[in-house]
Amino acid sequence: MTEQPIREALDAAGRVPSEQDLDTLSRQLNRPVRDVVEIGARCVCGNPLVATTAPRLSSGIPFPTTYYLTHPVITSAVSRLEAAGLMNEMNERLGEDSALAAAYTAAHEAYLANRDAIGERSGTGAVPEIAGVSAGGMPTRVKCLHVLVGHSLAAGEGVNPLGDEALAGIAQWWTKDKCYCVGAWDTDSAVPSQDRSRHVKTQEKAEDPEVKRAARAAKRAAREAAQQAGEQD
Ligand SMILES: [Zn+2]
Repeated sequence: MTEQPIREALDAAGRVPSEQDLDTLSRQLNRPVRDVVEIGARCVCGNPLVATTAPRLSSGIPFPTTYYLTHPVITSAVSRLEAAGLMNEMNERLGEDSALAAAYTAAHEAYLANRDAIGERSGTGAVPEIAGVSAGGMPTRVKCLHVLVGHSLAAGEGVNPLGDEALAGIAQWWTKDKCYCVGAWDTDSAVPSQDRSRHVKTQEKAEDPEVKRAARAAKRAAREAAQQAGEQD
């Protein structure tokens, strides 16, 4: 479909998410992760930096944002760049610098090519609803630096010029040659899991008879009130 060569930071074995990876992602995000099919990038220690989501969720919903930055040290560093106004500055440069604009368009195409490959590998297949739609504002705008940095980490340097720039911009807080994982997320309490939400649902069901009883009582009271009102007329 596209002539872009696929560039990915991790090899096939490195991309496979282990149970431990999924637990780490849930801890990093403090919520259970769903529909993660691969790991897009890893810390030198092996921990995930980027979660790769299939282009179609198991619920059937098309999902254009393939790479999600999960490492708290990186996400907060990138948020600092956003807060400092880097996106506005990048958008201005995209309007003036045609070489940068062309490289950014190529990054958009590379993103789509990677997503197609991930869709094939994960069994999702083609997702026509989001054909040509990437993420983060690509190909002409910068709307989310986290998306661009996630792409840069998953594709490797030299694919997304603005993602690479943002990565260089967070060097005082995070660099790819060092591990910043210790203390970056809660490793003591239970892994945020979907079991917990099932448990909550079970509790809600257990309360159902009570709720129904209360509703019946309210209806009865309303009926009686209406009858009394009728008698007064
Ligand atoms: Zn690490």
